[in-house]
Amino acid sequence: MNEQFRQALSVIETLKRHGHEAYFVGGAVRDYILQRPIGDIDIATSAHPQEVMAIFPKTVPVGIAHGTVMVIEHGISYEVTTFRKEGRYEDYRRPKDVTFVRSLYEDLQRRDFTMNAIAMNEHGEMIDPFGGIEALKRRIIETVGDAAERFNEDALRMMRALRFVSQLGFSLSPNTKQAIMQYGHLLQHIAVERIAVEFEKLLLGPFMSKAIELFIETNLFLYLPELATKKGELAQLGASSLVPAHRIEAWARLASVAHFQNQQLKKWKLPNHLIRDVSICLKALEHIRFLEDWTIDALYKYGPYIPHIERTRAALYSDEPHVSLLMKQWEALPIRDRKELAINGHDLLALFERKSGPWLAEMIEDMERAVLHRQVENEKEKLKEWAVCNQRRENNC
Ligand code: ATP
Ligand code: MG
Repeated sequence: MNEQFRQALSVIETLKRHGHEAYFVGGAVRDYILQRPIGDIDIATSAHPQEVMAIFPKTVPVGIAHGTVMVIEHGISYEVTTFRKEGRYEDYRRPKDVTFVRSLYEDLQRRDFTMNAIAMNEHGEMIDPFGGIEALKRRIIETVGDAAERFNEDALRMMRALRFVSQLGFSLSPNTKQAIMQYGHLLQHIAVERIAVEFEKLLLGPFMSKAIELFIETNLFLYLPELATKKGELAQLGASSLVPAHRIEAWARLASVAHFQNQQLKKWKLPNHLIRDVSICLKALEHIRFLEDWTIDALYKYGPYIPHIERTRAALYSDEPHVSLLMKQWEALPIRDRKELAINGHDLLALFERKSGPWLAEMIEDMERAVLHRQVENEKEKLKEWAVCNQRRENNC
């Protein structure tokens, strides 16, 4: 067991002391077996939410209806979920009602893939009734039980299968792949926001090319917002081996290849701030194709967005990203923001004893450009001199 699990042991031990069963489950156990860095630790227990809340001093009822209570121990939060099986599935979406059960087996059985249906007890022993460890060894993604049935219960699982391909580089089992081909259309019943969450993880995975290939091969891409007619563009997206470092880059790359604008990004129901950030990158990429296109003006204009734009540029044009070089150049600019000008509007109004008007904004803009291009130093007196001189020139005197 690693340090993270050891720290979480007290949660399991406390539950057991109170007469309940408790195990580590889900992604953390999978990633631990794969010797990958583990994310959040999830715990499954026979205790009901009210019992969990009564046992631990610090809890947050994050999803009582689904049996989930967040337990905070040593400042770390753990999701503790009651063993459950899911109620009737309606419309191919996850069910509204869940039934709490007292057996771990049933809880593992409702999970999506065999590699995600492994439990680990407090001694580090694995409980693996569906052959998840073997699947991990063979690098196979396979559903727990009949794939067609499981995708009919919850069609989002097809998206999850492909995002795990992208994250782990695994293959789909023949049955799982076959069922995706057959039931891909059920994705139409799933909320776009949930599809977007999985697709974003896919775009950020190191094996994105492999996942995109499968999207095309299984025809699942037909049910992604705005991508049904973009088979070739998707294939092109899969061609880059550079892994995006940030969600902005992931979406900017997709948007660029698929010729998305705000309108199409909105169909994915992405948050507004993300759409704005992606749009800024797209705008920049209209005129930045080569490293040499990073002019002083471009560096100044895009400042904090430089890493995202540069990495996206490199991915799109199969080039090397030169992020640290560009960031050094940006930092070395005389100013990085208009606010850094050593003179402001008030100073200029006083200097010229004139009422405010469009002239003022124009003058500040001229000054900003002059400072940026080192035609004048960013010092108050020098800028005043420059302003007076510039004004005279404009008045032809
Ligand atoms: P990650 O490391 O990306 O969080 P994860 O496997 O932990 O991967 P989560 O979405 O956090 O994925 O889900 C936690 C666990 O819940 C999964 O490992 C799986 O056992 C189960 N699970 C999640 N979504 C579904 C689903 N749609 N159907 C069945 N089981 C699911
Ligand atoms: Mg998880």
